[in-house]
Amino acid sequence: MVVVERKELTLAERLYLPEIFRGMAITFRKLFAKRVTRQYPEEPLPTTEVTRGQPRLVVNDDGNIACVSCGLCEAACPAYAITIDGHETDRTIEREPERFDIDMLRCILCGFCEEACPKDAIFMSDELELADYTRQALVYNIERLKRPKSALQARIDYVYRLNDRWQSSSSTS
Ligand code: SF4
Ligand code: SF4
Repeated sequence: MVVVERKELTLAERLYLPEIFRGMAITFRKLFAKRVTRQYPEEPLPTTEVTRGQPRLVVNDDGNIACVSCGLCEAACPAYAITIDGHETDRTIEREPERFDIDMLRCILCGFCEEACPKDAIFMSDELELADYTRQALVYNIERLKRPKSALQARIDYVYRLNDRWQSSSSTS
């Protein structure tokens, strides 16, 4: 039979004093440490062109939506968040969406729609905030998704830079 010899606790140990002093020392040190808490929403999250926020539709400088309603982003979306109905136009670009919905509660911000689009018509914005009172209000329709191209330009440039890097690395391998 193994006999475990137990150490006799001092009075201070029995009163948990070493642990209390160690905890208080940590608390005291943290009082003077640099604060890392962000006071959101007064201090919004920092965003850059790398930020993959909610997808938005590009409106060209001529005022027309860049989307030609091909449906590739709808097919690529793994969350089945996109619903598109197209119609004909009398412009050179013959089709555009009459309905383009993204269910933001389904969207997982994966960026597949951005990658799938052959017309540079949908890009991930730096818009991260999402709140409303009903599920239906979070299904964004075409008017809520449209953004002028200039508002998405930083992201567009970033995606082009990424694609250039990918193309040059695949051509050298
Ligand atoms: S970011 Fe991903 S989940 Fe969201 S709409 Fe695009 S493809 Fe779908
Ligand atoms: S956003 Fe792009 S991929 Fe999606 S339907 Fe429009 S043109 Fe096609």
